[in-house]
Amino acid sequence: MLKGKTALVTGSTSGIGLGIALTLARQGADVVLNGFGEFEAARASVAETGVKVGYHGADMSRPDEIAELVAYANKDFNGIDILVNNAGIQHVANVEDFPVEKWDAIIAINLSSAFHTTRLAVPGMKARNWGRIINVASAHGLVASAQKSAYVASKHGIVGFTKAVALETATTGITCNAICPGWVLTPLVQKQIDDRASREGITVEEASRDLLGEKQPSLQFVTPEQLGELAVFLCSPGAANVRGVAWNVDGGWVAQ
Ligand code: NAD
Repeated sequence: MLKGKTALVTGSTSGIGLGIALTLARQGADVVLNGFGEFEAARASVAETGVKVGYHGADMSRPDEIAELVAYANKDFNGIDILVNNAGIQHVANVEDFPVEKWDAIIAINLSSAFHTTRLAVPGMKARNWGRIINVASAHGLVASAQKSAYVASKHGIVGFTKAVALETATTGITCNAICPGWVLTPLVQKQIDDRASREGITVEEASRDLLGEKQPSLQFVTPEQLGELAVFLCSPGAANVRGVAWNVDGGWVAQ
């Protein structure tokens, strides 16, 4: 279905970004990966699907490096048809203890990076009159939790940004939507589980069960593959008039 399209997925060396990149590749999309850490394994797993795969290590907190990433996708691929703004970080602390540099980094990576990729990708999408912008927000884009002020602000911000871009592109072949996952077992969440286990003197299994029990009525983690399948739907002709939604995939978290 996506043969001939190029998807840029930010923060795709692990977790949800890698899951979405793989699912889009299985539909035939060429993929530009981005993110920190070991990237060869991610690149190899996407390449196994037979599509063209690239990688650029831009730091998504830096507008100059984001511009280089988009230039790379324009030069080595045929522009960006599908933009998945996924890179994100977390930090947990009460607001009065929240490190200022952590606040700035979370807003830059989780929110401002999507502004920069979008402003740079939209002209090419407009020229081709086709584009899909998918912002990976969170259940925390719809409701809050204590000790996550920067994360919640960034995710509510990206839901608002999604709606504004959807309106600006409403008469075009470009759509902009947000996916709002609940708990997904990735390195970002594993750290919170490990911290909880050592703080409360319980096992990792108990901490994991408590984390789900608090928020996620399904008591099951959402998987990166499930989020990838929703991204594929948002890229399909059937979703051509799905515009500006913030679609929760959260085991019932925000239904409560
Ligand atoms: P993860 O830690 O597994 O992956 C994050 C990715 O972002 C990695 O590839 C990492 O290298 C990359 N990254 C981090 N900082 C970067 C930077 N400055 N520049 C470039 N890349 C950077 O986390 P994840 O759980 O897969 O999170 C992906 C997205 O999903 C995030 O936006 C997160 O907020 C969101 N999300 C996660 C969950 C969850 O339960 N895991 C729930 C809701 C939303």
